[in-house]
Amino acid sequence: MIEKYDLHCHSTASDGVLSPTTLVQRAHEQGVTVLALTDHDTTAGYEEAEIAASKANITLLAGIELSASWQGKTFHIVGLGINPDYAPLHDATRHLQVIRLERAEQIAAKLEKKRIPGALDAVMKSAGDSMITRTHFADFLVSQNHVSSQQEAFDRYLAKGKPAYVATVWAELDLAVNWITQSGGIAVLAHPLRYKLTANWMKRVLTAFTQAGGQGIEVVTGRCNADEIKLAAKYANDFELTGSVGSDFHSPANPWVELGRLAPLPANIKPVWELFGQKALSI
Ligand code: AMP
Ligand code: MN
Ligand code: MN
Ligand code: MN
Repeated sequence: MIEKYDLHCHSTASDGVLSPTTLVQRAHEQGVTVLALTDHDTTAGYEEAEIAASKANITLLAGIELSASWQGKTFHIVGLGINPDYAPLHDATRHLQVIRLERAEQIAAKLEKKRIPGALDAVMKSAGDSMITRTHFADFLVSQNHVSSQQEAFDRYLAKGKPAYVATVWAELDLAVNWITQSGGIAVLAHPLRYKLTANWMKRVLTAFTQAGGQGIEVVTGRCNADEIKLAAKYANDFELTGSVGSDFHSPANPWVELGRLAPLPANIKPVWELFGQKALSI
């Protein structure tokens, strides 16, 4: 059987629009056979997703997208095939939830200074028990007609350098990689080109990442062109990393990104799923 992989997506446990169940059903409808649920800093959606996955006969990997800091910059580390019950990983998610709440308070205070009150109450309500993300703030700004799209919310308020941006210290990069690998998972550097780093910085972070035990890099993401795939593939080859594929799906409203709609991995890249069978060995 030819598998169709999507190893990066979000549910309502973080900033995705679909519940874990609906997300899994949609993945199945799109022909995905192996899915990893990778919510920001939480595995809370996994249990529900697993029930839907066994009904739909789709292979589900427990995953996460950890927010990590290295040299004052933020990186996202996807964990694939993790054990959500591994205590240090679970503790880390709780700590990151506190960091996210504190950041939310600071973002809301900055918005208030821009005469936009009520953000904290609104995002706490919309996030509920889930991780509060900047996406929740973007949706709030859209709902209050301060901006007309999520993108505009980031461009005018939430992105780095904008008035409501708050610099945040996330988990240390090597700790994030360790929680993933120690729980039996594979650590993958998410969307490497989105950090907008120079080749030199890229080299430095990939050195730190591989030294910490990182084994993969996303070579194919939901919105990338042939040149971007080529560049990410070069990083994979230069650092002897396996290649991952993941849409980073958040919402059906985004016509550019769909579950499972991904270019194939270049033939010269070792797929990350070739490591899945060896997972037990690394525990
Ligand atoms: P956070 O981890 O809370 O800082 O939020 C990061 C999330 O915000 C990302 O995973 C994206 O889903 C979303 N995001 C970041 N930048 C943008 C952008 N320019 N436009 C839309 N969404 C964005
Ligand atoms: Mn997101
Ligand atoms: Mn990300
Ligand atoms: Mn993501």
